[in-house]
Amino acid sequence: MKTNIKSMLPGEIGEALKNMGQPAYRGEQIFKWLHSGVTTFDEMTNLPKALREKLGEEYFITAPKILRKQVSKIDGTIKYLWELYDGNCVESVLMRYEHGNTICISSQVGCRMGCAFCASTIGGLVRCLEPSELIDQVLFAGLDSESKISNIVLMGIGEPLDNFDNVMRFLELVNHPLGLNIGMRHISLSTCGLTEKVDKLGDYNIQLTLSVSLHGPDDETRSKIMPVNRSTGVDKLLETCRNYFNKTKRRISFEYAMIDGVNDTPYHARLLAEKLKGTGSHVNLIPLNNVDESPLKPSKPETIRRFIEILEKNNINVTVRRKLGSDIDASCGQLRRKAMRE
Ligand code: SAH
Repeated sequence: MKTNIKSMLPGEIGEALKNMGQPAYRGEQIFKWLHSGVTTFDEMTNLPKALREKLGEEYFITAPKILRKQVSKIDGTIKYLWELYDGNCVESVLMRYEHGNTICISSQVGCRMGCAFCASTIGGLVRCLEPSELIDQVLFAGLDSESKISNIVLMGIGEPLDNFDNVMRFLELVNHPLGLNIGMRHISLSTCGLTEKVDKLGDYNIQLTLSVSLHGPDDETRSKIMPVNRSTGVDKLLETCRNYFNKTKRRISFEYAMIDGVNDTPYHARLLAEKLKGTGSHVNLIPLNNVDESPLKPSKPETIRRFIEILEKNNINVTVRRKLGSDIDASCGQLRRKAMRE
């Protein structure tokens, strides 16, 4: 079994190479090569040939293949379907904003959270992505599109906090000055609300932005569409969020997918406002994206307007997510599903 070298930090590579009689600076040299996108050891031209050969015997370099690429004619959004080294597929979406390019990356192949409205969870969890496979989505999308990526959102396929250690390692790698060097304040992580893991993340006290997928202000509504709520409950989740804020001083943003007749009535809006009162939290409404396999439908524009009105009247800061790439299936797990069906 070869070792995945792109999941290692420079110090670790250097340490491992000591046994091969190499100086410590080799770790930094190799790390730089890996994070510039080389796919073979032979391309690392400042290493002795014998060392390159030896590395190839003990280590491998992950480099996903672009299986499909769709470019939106409307807004330039690019959706990538990647084939990983074991044949599994995940998606990333590169979005172009005035303030720079943002990439939305996947954290797992599939997902085991079972949310009723989400395409990524159909078929369950296949496996967690390795740290290098998270890096690769940012690295190779940037190289392929010839654009500088300045922001990352962990909002693609999978539940990032269900792959906690690999995601934490990814953050260290992507943050590294010799690598992609993307700062924590330019990274957002979205979770369905695994409370123990949110607590654990809070202990790291890092400056990323945490988004919590709420989608319902009470247990009856939320448990119907998000099985994870059946064991935790909304109140415990919101308490965990308050503790997270107290520890990190970083405000949490709540995502709320508007689903016709399920969570979009004035009752839901009033209860949501009441539960978030005084937290300074921000609510991001997402008009539901249709998923072929699901009977759930997006709320009507009129219903969304009324929902916003009630939140604003109660001093809750609310925005509606802009829809990018609607002509290219650019939302959660849809391209992977399509490819699997075909
Ligand atoms: N597992 C994480 C991150 C992945 S999903 C989480 O649950 O937050 C990213 C966001 O898209 C989540 O808020 C998720 O609830 C939402 N989402 C999933 N399917 C959707 C759909 N069909 N329409 C609108 N939003 C959806």
